[in-house]
Amino acid sequence: MSYCRFQHQGATLYGLIEGDGDQPTITRTLTRAPQSFSDFDRGEKSELPLSAVRLLAPAEPGKIVCIGRNYREHAKELDHPIPTEPLIFLKPPSSLIGPEDAIRRPAELSQRVDYEGELGVVIGRRCYCLRESDDVKPYIVGYTCVNDVTARDLQNKDGQWTRAKGFDTFCPVGPVVAEGLDPWKGVRVQSRVNGELRQNGTTADFLFPLDVLVRFISQVMTLEPGDVIATGTPAGVGPLKAGDVVEVTVEGVGTLRNPVVDRE
Ligand code: MG
Repeated sequence: MSYCRFQHQGATLYGLIEGDGDQPTITRTLTRAPQSFSDFDRGEKSELPLSAVRLLAPAEPGKIVCIGRNYREHAKELDHPIPTEPLIFLKPPSSLIGPEDAIRRPAELSQRVDYEGELGVVIGRRCYCLRESDDVKPYIVGYTCVNDVTARDLQNKDGQWTRAKGFDTFCPVGPVVAEGLDPWKGVRVQSRVNGELRQNGTTADFLFPLDVLVRFISQVMTLEPGDVIATGTPAGVGPLKAGDVVEVTVEGVGTLRNPVVDRE
């Protein structure tokens, strides 16, 4: 099962999506973000075909917490040491865009803007200082695709990553939030540029499993409903240029597709 956030006839709503194949339909809607899929039981009934609506990023995060170097092969390709504890950084909510929205390259400031396909985790319940014995699953409403777009040259130059990771449009998220994934067992994460496969990893290769990541972040900051965690990218990152189309596919979620332009 999955849900989306969408615009239709002037309204912005969350919608439960049912039915596979060619004709997925929004069957229930909510005006506020669900904290779990069962919230849709109280939603308005609907019969909107998914194809009739404009999809937005499926979360409204107060913060986007990202994990750096959570796959051994990616750390190696950037010539970075393997971390001994999770490395976290933030992307601002102003970097968020939805499916089909354009990634705008700041070509005058960066000569190297990379895609990073990642499994995204959407928080459903507030949590802070989780203990080793706490199960993290009740705090997760579902999973999505994230593209942690990065100005690689500025990341190397600045030391701090805020600028490299924080440009407007540098955080495509979507197209939906899905339940039923098992990142501990392994979920395939792929990226394609103009249809060509560039990244093909599995979350089974995480250096730090998802429960360790959520507990680690929660020692630092309160995770609020709607917050998004980007869990790190597998090997195969590379540059984007104007005119490219980049797709991030997470098994069990779908494909997040965004065109690339140079900003004016
Ligand atoms: Mg990343």
